[in-house]
Amino acid sequence: MLMAAFSATISDSSRFLSSTSLPKRKISASSPRCRSFSLPKPFPLSRLNIGSRLERGKSFTICAQASVSDISVEKSMGKVNLPKGDMWAVHKFGGTCVGTSQRIKNVADIIISDDSERKLVVVSAMSKVTDMMYDLINKAQSRDDSYISSLDAVLEKHNSTALDLLDGDDLASFLSQLHHDVSNLKAMLRAIYIAGHVTESFSDFVVGHGELWSAQMLSYVVRKNGLDCKWMDTREVLIVNPTSSNQVDPDFLESERKLEKWFSQNPSKIIIATGFIASTPQNIPTTLKRDGSDFSAAIMGALFRARQVTIWTDVDGVYSADPRKVSEAVILRKLSYQEAWEMSYFGANVLHPRTIIPVMRYDIPIVIRNIFNLSAPGTKICRSASEDVDGQNLDSPVKGFATIDNLALVNVEGTGMAGVPGTASAIFSAVKDVGANVIMISQASSEHSVCFAVPEKEVKAVAEALQSRFRQALDAGRLSQVAVIPNCSILAAVGQKMASTPGVSATLFNALAKANINIRAIAQGCSEYNITVVVKREDCIRALRAVHSRFYLSRTTIAIGIIGPGLIGATLLDQLRDQAAVLKEEFNIDLRVMGITGSRTMLLSEVGIDLSRWSELLKQKGQVADLEKFTQHVHGNHFIPNTAVVDCTADSNVASCYHDWLCKGIHVITPNKKANSGPLDKYLKLRALQRQSYTHYFYEATVGAGLPIISTLRGLLETGDRILRIEGIFSGTLSYIFNNFTGTRTFSEVVAEAKEAGYTEPDPRDDLSGTDVGRKVIILARESGLKLELSDIPVQTLVPEPLRATESAEDFMKQLPQFDTDMAKERQDAEESGEVLRYVGVVDAINQKGVVELRRYSKSHPFAQLSGSDNIIAFTTTRYKEQPLIVRGPGAGAQVTAGGVFSDILRLASYLGAPS
Ligand code: ADP
Ligand code: ASP
Ligand code: MG
Repeated sequence: MLMAAFSATISDSSRFLSSTSLPKRKISASSPRCRSFSLPKPFPLSRLNIGSRLERGKSFTICAQASVSDISVEKSMGKVNLPKGDMWAVHKFGGTCVGTSQRIKNVADIIISDDSERKLVVVSAMSKVTDMMYDLINKAQSRDDSYISSLDAVLEKHNSTALDLLDGDDLASFLSQLHHDVSNLKAMLRAIYIAGHVTESFSDFVVGHGELWSAQMLSYVVRKNGLDCKWMDTREVLIVNPTSSNQVDPDFLESERKLEKWFSQNPSKIIIATGFIASTPQNIPTTLKRDGSDFSAAIMGALFRARQVTIWTDVDGVYSADPRKVSEAVILRKLSYQEAWEMSYFGANVLHPRTIIPVMRYDIPIVIRNIFNLSAPGTKICRSASEDVDGQNLDSPVKGFATIDNLALVNVEGTGMAGVPGTASAIFSAVKDVGANVIMISQASSEHSVCFAVPEKEVKAVAEALQSRFRQALDAGRLSQVAVIPNCSILAAVGQKMASTPGVSATLFNALAKANINIRAIAQGCSEYNITVVVKREDCIRALRAVHSRFYLSRTTIAIGIIGPGLIGATLLDQLRDQAAVLKEEFNIDLRVMGITGSRTMLLSEVGIDLSRWSELLKQKGQVADLEKFTQHVHGNHFIPNTAVVDCTADSNVASCYHDWLCKGIHVITPNKKANSGPLDKYLKLRALQRQSYTHYFYEATVGAGLPIISTLRGLLETGDRILRIEGIFSGTLSYIFNNFTGTRTFSEVVAEAKEAGYTEPDPRDDLSGTDVGRKVIILARESGLKLELSDIPVQTLVPEPLRATESAEDFMKQLPQFDTDMAKERQDAEESGEVLRYVGVVDAINQKGVVELRRYSKSHPFAQLSGSDNIIAFTTTRYKEQPLIVRGPGAGAQVTAGGVFSDILRLASYLGAPS
C-alpha cells in the first residue's frame, strides 16, 4: 500500500496554535520525495504515534523518513495515466446518507448498482459528526473538560458503526486506525485546552476526521462486496488557497497534478474520497468550510471531467423554497447553473454555493437526489433549463425563493454624497478593511444614500469603521448619518426567465404588500436572475410563504380567529367545517381556524382547530379568555401569511380593537355593527386606515345579513353613481311583525308569535326600540358619504313609554297587550286609505339626514308585498331614479348572517390572490 510521507514542519508557527511557552520541534523529511506538512506547533509529536501511522500508511501521514513502498510506487509512476471524461460518474453522499451503519450499506448498494465504467464517490462525515468535532474544539478552547467525554461519544459512534458493518481484518484495521486517530485528537485537544486558543488550521485538521472515518468505512463495505475500490484522503489531492473571507479557492492545476500522481499510485475503478477536506499549497490540512462536501464533489467532477455529479441527500431535490419553511414547496425538476447558484447563495442549503462554478466550466450536469426515495427523479442542474421536463411547467418566471437570516442593514446617507466620485468605493473599502461580507447593495439614483446588508455579527465593526472613515464628512454635515437597522432577513426570488419578463417584481411586491409586509430595501442585478428584498426578520417566513403561494398558485392560506361562538359564530364554524375541503381542493383556499374565543374561555391551536369537534374541544381544552393573547396567537404564527379576525359578537369593546388589529395587518370581518355605527371620528379613522393599507375590513353582514347591500352600495358609488336615497325594511323581526299584523291578531299576539318563532331578540324590546335599525341606517349613511352620528338619526321606538323601564322581557310581554289598541288604530287608519304599516329606515342623502320610523305605504308599493322576515332595500340614485334598485330577501337569522360573514372571508381570500 502506498505510504504517503510528509515532513512535519513546526516552524510555521503563525498558522497554528499560538503559544510561545510550548516547545518547538521540527521534523524534516530525510527523503527528497517526502511531502512537507506542517503540524500544529505545540503538538507533542511523540504522542502522534508516527511509527504506527507509517506502517499503516493509509491516511494523512507524518513520517520522518521515506519508505520502501513509497519508492516502489514512484517507480510505477507515469505508467498508469488518469483516464478522464464521460466514463466517470461522481456521486456525493451527504451526512444523513451515511448517518447509520444501515445507511452506509445502502450507499454501498447504490455505488455497486451504478453501472458507470468508473466511479468517484465523495462522502461527508456521518450526520452530526462535524458538529460534534467543532463542539470538541469549542469545549477544549474554553477549557471545558467535557471535551473528553464528547470525544468518547465520537469514538463510540464510529466504533459501533464499524462493529455493525465490518468484521475480521477489516474491522481490526479500521478500529486500530480509529483509536489511533482518537488518541491523537485527544492529545491535540489537550493542547488546545492548555493554550485556551485554537487557530483555524488546527481546527480544520481536527474537524476533518469525520470524513476520514466515513470514507474508510464505506470503502471497506464496498470492498466487502467484492469490488476493487480505493479510498482517497483528499488532503493528498485537493489543493486550495485560503481567501480572506472564510472561503478557499481550488488550485485546479496543482490539484490535477496531484490527482494524476495519486491515481498512478492507486489505479482503481471505484474511488471513495473524503469530502470537505483539502490541503493548502503548503500542505497544511484545511477544509472547504461548512457544508463543503458538495464543493469537493464538484471539484472532483471537474478534475475527472466526469459525465455527471450526483448529489445524494435527504430531500427529493431542490425545492421552490426551503421545504422546512414552506410545506407546499414543489420540487424543481430542472435548474440552470445560474439559478442553482443564486438559490444556494441565498440560503438554500441543499447545495453549497460554490458547487456550481467547477462543473459549469465543463458543462457537467449536477443531479440532486434523495437517498431515501430512489423513485424520485431529483433535480437536474445544467446549462440551459429552458426545455420542459416531463410536462413540468417551466413558464413561471420565478423558479424558487430562498432566505438569509441574521442580517443588518447599514444606511449611509447625506446630501454631500450625490455626484461625488469615490463615495461608494470609500464605503466599501472601509467595510472590506473590517473583513465584513456585503450581501446586498442598493443605491438610489439620487445618490443620496447607499444601503447594504451585512451579517448581523459584523455590523458593529462595519458601523464603527464607517463612522471613523467618514468622521470629517459627518462633522461637516456632508453625510447626515450612518444608520444600522438590525434584525433583518433577505428574501430572494430566483429565476432565469425573470430576465426581460415584465411584471415579476410587481407581482412579488404586491404579494408582500397583501401580506402586510414592509420592504426595507430592494436590489435587482441587471442579469435579472434575482430580485432581493430585505424584510424584518420576524416577517421573513410569512413573506416567503406569501410570495411562494403567489407564484406557485398554491393555496391562499388564512389564519382565522373567531370571536363570539354564539349563534352566528357557531353557525359560521359549522359552515366552515362543511365547506373547508371543497375550498381547499377546488379553490385553493385554506382557511385555518387557529383560535375561537368567547367571553370566558378560548381555544387556541397551532395548526388549526378540528371544526368537527370545536365546541367539545372548547369545553375540554379551553383556557381563560384573553383577547390580546388570542389575537397574538392567531397572528403570531409565522407560517401563515394572512390573518383575519372574525368578530361575531355585538360587543363595542371588541369593535374598539379593530383599528389596532388593522394597524398590525390583521384583516377584520364582522357582522358587529358597533364599530361602524359608533363615534364618527373613530369610524372615519378606521375607514381611512383601511383605504391606506392592504389590510381589509369587511362588514357586509352588518346590514341585511347575507344580502348584498353594502357591496351593491359600493358598486354604485365606485362606478360614479350618486346616491339620492336609501329606504328599506332593515329589521327581519319588524318585517315579520308588520307583514303578519294584518288585523287577524293583535299587535302583542304577533310579537309573541315572532318571539316564539325565534325571530326576535330574547327581549323583543331590543327589536321594537328601533336602535338596531338606527345603526344600520347610520352605517349606510356613512357608507354613502354622510358624516352623521347615531344621535343625529331620529328613531321612533315601538316600545310604549310606560314599558321601557319594565324589568324583565316576560313582564314586558305580559303588559304589552294593554297598548294593543293604539297600534290597532294606526293599522286601521292605514287600511282605510289602502295602505299598510311598515317600520323603515331612510337615508336622505340629498338633505344629509336619516330617520327610522313607522310609515304607511300603498298596498301596491314593493314594501307592502313582503312576506316572512324578508328585508327590502331600495336605492334611489341618479341612475336608478325612476325605478329604484331593489335588493330583497331574508335579512335575518343565523344561517344567512353567518353566510354573509363567510362570503366576506372568501372575498378576502380572493383579494389576497386566490383564483376567482
Ligand atoms: P447534506 O448533509 O446531504 O449535504 P444538507 O442538510 O446540507 O444535506 O442539505 C439538505 C437540506 O437542505 C434539506 O434537508 C432541506 O431541509 C434544506 N433545504 C433548504 N432549502 C432547500 C431547497 N430550496 N430545496 C431543498 N432543500 C432545501
Ligand atoms: N461534514 C461537513 C459539514 O458538516 C461537510 C459536509 O457535510 O458537507 O460541514
Ligand atoms: Mg450539504
